[in-house]
Amino acid sequence: MKKDFYEILGISKGADAAEIKKAYRKSALKYHPDKNPGDKEAEENFKLAAEAYEVLSDPNKKAKYDQYGHQAFDGSGGFGGGGHGGMNMDDIFSQFGDIFGGGFGGFGGGGGGPRRAKGSNLRIKVKLTLEEIANGVEKKVKVKRKVQAKGATYKTCSTCNGQGQVMRVTNTILGRMQSASTCPTCGGSGQILDKKPSEADSQGMILEDETVSIKIPAGVVDGMQLKVSGKGNDAPGNSIPGDLIVAIEELEHEFLKREGENVHFDLYISFPEAVLGVSKDIEAINGKVRIKLEEGIQSGKILRLKGKGIPSINGYGSGDLLVHVNVWTPKTLNKEQKQFFENALTDEHFVPNPEKSEKSFFEKVKDMFS
Ligand SMILES: [Zn+2]
Repeated sequence: MKKDFYEILGISKGADAAEIKKAYRKSALKYHPDKNPGDKEAEENFKLAAEAYEVLSDPNKKAKYDQYGHQAFDGSGGFGGGGHGGMNMDDIFSQFGDIFGGGFGGFGGGGGGPRRAKGSNLRIKVKLTLEEIANGVEKKVKVKRKVQAKGATYKTCSTCNGQGQVMRVTNTILGRMQSASTCPTCGGSGQILDKKPSEADSQGMILEDETVSIKIPAGVVDGMQLKVSGKGNDAPGNSIPGDLIVAIEELEHEFLKREGENVHFDLYISFPEAVLGVSKDIEAINGKVRIKLEEGIQSGKILRLKGKGIPSINGYGSGDLLVHVNVWTPKTLNKEQKQFFENALTDEHFVPNPEKSEKSFFEKVKDMFS
């Protein structure tokens, strides 16, 4: 059961706009995360108050709420994108500008600022063999990350009061206009270096080698990018690190050609093998697979080995291994062999006579992609 919005803000149903605002301001200050670090209940109350205010401060939403209660906002009939019931901290903080009179300083340097700065992303390439792609693999990579040096301390930027932004007032023909821009002193982080260890740069950062373990799922594709959260560069002060972006590069396989989830293998057999039939070992991804070719097999025939391809990245089954049969025609013959084939020229057994059931090259190609 959801708590009543008026109850959350501690006001009566008859409260006017000024009272609602005042009540919200009181709750927001009381439950502000900077004042209650790590306190989940305070955070929850903070969010509830923001949610209540979001509705009650809007005459339309308030009217709906007064009439229908919480039901007014459930399901598809709710306020699209209003984030009702799921306001995130960014939404809440962005609301503050309105409530506290556009006034930065509403929280008077309560620390933190509205958003924590995020460090930049790092990018690396990982080369994978087809076997690694087919089976999934865990790769350890060395990255050089920017991290805060030991002993580096930060203080709230006094130019922007920790907000990371400064308001600029310009005079236009429409009157005075206020606009926000990134704070020039702290570059938007809201914090500046206080104590700088000798080895650190001007932002208190150093480069550090780190070995990062990356779990690569089976079925990745060349050019795909995976994200390892928090393994990019750190940013100064109370910030969150960027991400490590891993670009997949597929190494060419000696025998196999990948095409989506299928792999292709070109098999060459001799003329006698085609005539008499033969068993062959095929280099599949995870070792050899023995296949049997019946006597009289035609060049161009494609054998499909189900499930011997690449697993789907979504986890739905695997592709196939397609074996393309090529009959190798000898380029030189000795005298007797030559004689044999000369005789064969007029032998009815050697006259091409494809059966109806033998598919043409074009039909085979069509089949392959179906
Ligand atoms: Zn600043």
